[in-house]
Amino acid sequence: MENLIGLVNRIQRACTALGDHGGDNALPTLWEALPSVAVVGGQSSGKSSVLESIVGRDFLPRGSGIVTRRPLVLQLHKIDEGSEYAEFMHLPKRRFTDFSAVRKEIQDETDRMTGKNKQISPVPIHLSIYSPHVVNLTLIDLPGLTKVAVEGQPESIVADIENMVRLYVDKPNTIILAISPANQDIATSDAIKLAREVDPTGERTWGVLTKLDLMDKGTNAVDVLEGRAYHLKHPWIGVVNRSQADINKNVDMIAARNREREYFNNSPDYKHLAPRMGSEYLGKMLSKHLESVIKARIPSILSMVNKSIDELETEMNQLGRPIAVDAGAQLYTILELCRAFDRVFKEHLDGGRPGGDRIYGVFDIQFPAALRKLPFDRHLSLQNVRRIVSEADGYQPHLIAPEQGYRRLIESALTFFRGPAEAVVDAVHFVLRELVRKSINETQELKRFPTLQAELTAAATEALEKFREESRKTALRMVDMEASYLTVDFFRKLPQELDKGGNPSSTTIDRYTEGHLKRIGSNVSAYINMVSETLRISIPKAVVHCQVREAKRSLLDHFYTQVGKREGAQLATLLDEDPALMERRAACSKRLELYKQARDEIDAVAWAR
Ligand code: GDP
Ligand code: MG
Repeated sequence: MENLIGLVNRIQRACTALGDHGGDNALPTLWEALPSVAVVGGQSSGKSSVLESIVGRDFLPRGSGIVTRRPLVLQLHKIDEGSEYAEFMHLPKRRFTDFSAVRKEIQDETDRMTGKNKQISPVPIHLSIYSPHVVNLTLIDLPGLTKVAVEGQPESIVADIENMVRLYVDKPNTIILAISPANQDIATSDAIKLAREVDPTGERTWGVLTKLDLMDKGTNAVDVLEGRAYHLKHPWIGVVNRSQADINKNVDMIAARNREREYFNNSPDYKHLAPRMGSEYLGKMLSKHLESVIKARIPSILSMVNKSIDELETEMNQLGRPIAVDAGAQLYTILELCRAFDRVFKEHLDGGRPGGDRIYGVFDIQFPAALRKLPFDRHLSLQNVRRIVSEADGYQPHLIAPEQGYRRLIESALTFFRGPAEAVVDAVHFVLRELVRKSINETQELKRFPTLQAELTAAATEALEKFREESRKTALRMVDMEASYLTVDFFRKLPQELDKGGNPSSTTIDRYTEGHLKRIGSNVSAYINMVSETLRISIPKAVVHCQVREAKRSLLDHFYTQVGKREGAQLATLLDEDPALMERRAACSKRLELYKQARDEIDAVAWAR
């Protein structure tokens, strides 16, 4: 049984060493699950005195004002023989045998964390006392509850102290040692007030009544000690500590304990309660109670530890491993990440992930619609045809067919196709850019590396820009090609106007009749429709060839050659991680270490039993 308290002591120290003071850093906390005894009470209620009586040593800082400004986790270890000594966790190599030096070190270590300006801090000081005269017990001394700030303390100190004390007494595993002075009405006790709030049934509250010797003559505390004034599940324990005069006279602790014992044995008021009064009895009761609480909690602590290990390991996996330090490994990592991105990007294009279908949408819907909307009706209106044909003819009307007029009408109509051709190129470009953005976001492995993400996005966008330019040139060239050499066959197949009249002379009478111009218009229109159909089919081919296929094939080629030329330090910057994420990984890894250590400790004790 004895090693159970030792077990909790070891885990508590590991908690402080690895930064688990409970609280709210969004990590599972083991500290909060560990049973311990917290000493609470108003200022000067006798908390320090009670602790010293239990230890049988005089080692706590004394003075006016708020002396205890950091929690003191006091771990008592019973040893079989040898002389007493004390050890601080923050000074692992030093054994203190002089207890006034312990007092000084508590003060100095408090100041180290809080500064001299009487601030408070929730980071505990761990002190272990090894002695044949102690019982195994862990007690936490907390700052006394106050009502007003004094001597240059910030106004907030009253609330700060209460919040810190609450941090401890709120935990369902904390045993509350509530210290109240007997020379004050129990109804006004700060300790009882707080304990009642956090532990209304009184299950984990132990009431301690100090200063019995200071009560007014003719009054006694039997009503409180027998549980009538304020009922708790555990019986009240009265103590008589050293008075200030005793402290000044350096009355030693053993003598004080003996005097306390005599006090109860000889007091007519308390004689009947004497066997369950006094500091020594209090220490023994607490030790026994703490052990039984720990024993009852071990299975749930162990399962909590295992569950937290699972959770932390899962999170660590998601966060990924820390990055290698040598340049070769870094380059390898970068290329792996690029490939991961490239895979996602290709899935978007080839299907498997959505988005690639939008390119087909551009070809199948947007582009044909844009072609249909071209204003050929206006261009080939009777009026316009007449104007262009007559301008082309010049002073002499054409004889048979208006060769020049046809050419001008067709060439000027063909320029209309440049707009939709460029629009397809741009539309596909924007789809590809959006897919790059999406793929960057969806590449799980990249999440950690904002710098690499940004550079990859920039490189891919630049490459897409280059493909767009190439594609634009090609698409426009296809339009221009249509204008530079007309399809002769088309015109050969047209019905010859000459043959219709059968008489060449009559056809030359007026070249500009409506019927004639209409026929020219409709011939040109038919030609343009043929070209439109050709381009509708061929421009998507050009766009896929120049943009989509290139994006799949060589999106990151330029980036790869650039990365290959980089030196170590430049590679490292590419792998800069989000600082928040690095912190989180470090925090998780520390916490994981704590839990694994705790699991081993618990396992060892469980097997030994
Ligand atoms: P804390 O502020 O709660 O830690 O209180 P301390 O333990 O420092 O005690 C405050 C003062 O009350 C000191 O002068 C103690 O000597 C005195 N004191 C504490 N307990 C008793 C007691 O049971 N009897 C007497 N006579 N004085 C006590
Ligand atoms: Mg004190």
